[in-house]
Amino acid sequence: MFQSCFSCPVCKSPLFYDERTVSCKNGHSFDRAKSGYVNLLQSNRKHAAIPGDNKEMVAARRAFLSAGYYAPLQQAVAEEVKKYAAFDGATILDVGCGEGYYTKAIAEAASNANIAGIDISKSALSVAAKHVKSVQFAVGSVFHLPVADNTCDLVTELFAPYCGEEFARVLKPGGVFLSVIPGARHLFGLKTLLYDTPYENAVKPFSLPGFTFLGEREIHQTITIQNQTDLWNLFSMTPYAYRTKREAQQKLLSCTSLTTEISFWILAYRVIKGA
Ligand SMILES: [Zn+2]
Repeated sequence: MFQSCFSCPVCKSPLFYDERTVSCKNGHSFDRAKSGYVNLLQSNRKHAAIPGDNKEMVAARRAFLSAGYYAPLQQAVAEEVKKYAAFDGATILDVGCGEGYYTKAIAEAASNANIAGIDISKSALSVAAKHVKSVQFAVGSVFHLPVADNTCDLVTELFAPYCGEEFARVLKPGGVFLSVIPGARHLFGLKTLLYDTPYENAVKPFSLPGFTFLGEREIHQTITIQNQTDLWNLFSMTPYAYRTKREAQQKLLSCTSLTTEISFWILAYRVIKGA
C-alpha cells in the first residue's frame, strides 16, 4: 500500500493504492482499471455518458503523435519541465493528459518526481496507463481536481481547459504552472485547404490573474504530412473535425500530402498564494 498523488473525491483525505483499488482512511474505495488508472470522477460531475475523447479520437491522436510530427513540442515541454521540477520528490500534475504522449516525456525529463495525470476520458487514460507505467493516472475533471491543496510543484496543461483557481489551489507556494497554447498560425496550411477564408487563431495576452508570468517559448515549424492516414488522423484530433462541411472533408480525402505551419507557445507562471 502506498500513498497516491490523489485525494478522495468524497472526503478529500489522501488516497492509498493497493493491488486492485484506491481507497481513503474513511473507507471510500475506487476501482482501478486493468490498465492501471483509477476512476475518481463522481457521477454528478459527468456531463455526458462517455465524457471526453472517445476510442476512435484517442486512436487517431495516438497514431498521429507517434509519427513524430509534434516531437519538437514534446522535446521543448520536457526541457521546460527539467528547468522547473526535475528535483527529487517533486510532484508534477499533468492536467488533461490525454493518451499520455507529453506525459511520457514529462516522466522521462523528471525521473525522480512523482507524476500524476488527470483526464476526463477513460479511453485516453486506458492508453496512457498502458504506455507510461511510472505515472499515476486518474479520471477526473479539470474543474474539480481530485488533488489536495498545496501539493504540486508543477502543473502542466497542454491544450486542456483552463481553470486557474484549481491550478493555484493544488500548487505549493512558489509552484510553477506551464501552459501550452496554439500559436496564431498553427495548422494554417490545413485550414487553407479546408476553408475559403481561413483565420489565424486568436492568441490572448499571456498574463493570468493569480500568477506571475515567468516567460514564453515559441515553437514554430513547417511540417509536411506525408500520407492520407496521418492527414486524416490530424484532422480528427482538431476542433475542425466537428465543424467542417462534407465537401471540405472531401478535399482532405483527395489530398495525399500537406505542408503546414505548426505553432505553439509554452508559457510559464509562478503561482501567487494569497496572504
Ligand atoms: Zn474518502
